[in-house]
Amino acid sequence: MVYLNGNDALVFDTPTNNKASSELIDWIGKRKIKGVVVTHFHIDCLGGLKEFHLNEIESYASKLTIELAKKDGQELPRQSFDDKIAFVVGKKIAYAQFFGQGHTKDNVVGYVPSEKALFGGCLIKALNSGKGNLVDANTNQWSTTVERIKNKIDGIEVVIPGHGKNGGIELLDFTIQLFKEK
Ligand SMILES: [Zn+2]
Repeated sequence: MVYLNGNDALVFDTPTNNKASSELIDWIGKRKIKGVVVTHFHIDCLGGLKEFHLNEIESYASKLTIELAKKDGQELPRQSFDDKIAFVVGKKIAYAQFFGQGHTKDNVVGYVPSEKALFGGCLIKALNSGKGNLVDANTNQWSTTVERIKNKIDGIEVVIPGHGKNGGIELLDFTIQLFKEK
């Protein structure tokens, strides 16, 4: 997700490689990119991080994400946070926050209260999609984590998953159900 407000931009997750990151940075154009937030340690969140660093754009991730990315030998986000971080983007505030384990044990989501928008990343599934890559998942906690997001973030209307089509609150319900099935 890219959040644009006024002359600012905030990026949640890099494209999977540096070439695509370069295209994204070009597309954002003259706006100031306040940062890129890596929402978990997999390649589809930080595979294009080097290009952001080459463009002197600050990068952010939770301490746990950085620790896990380090084990994987990835390019590392430079600024860390514990459970939650806030950004000023134009006149609005955007957050990244950890609500619990699911797709991975470090997955955080992004949200912009003023836009009623949630970026779920790989923690939130597009309608009718499968469970995806479960190599690092905690399938027992997944539904509980998504229920927590639904209960704690007020008024979500737009939900953007890590892969596939965006939608509304039904993506949260779909994901909760998907991981309740045994
Ligand atoms: Zn992933």
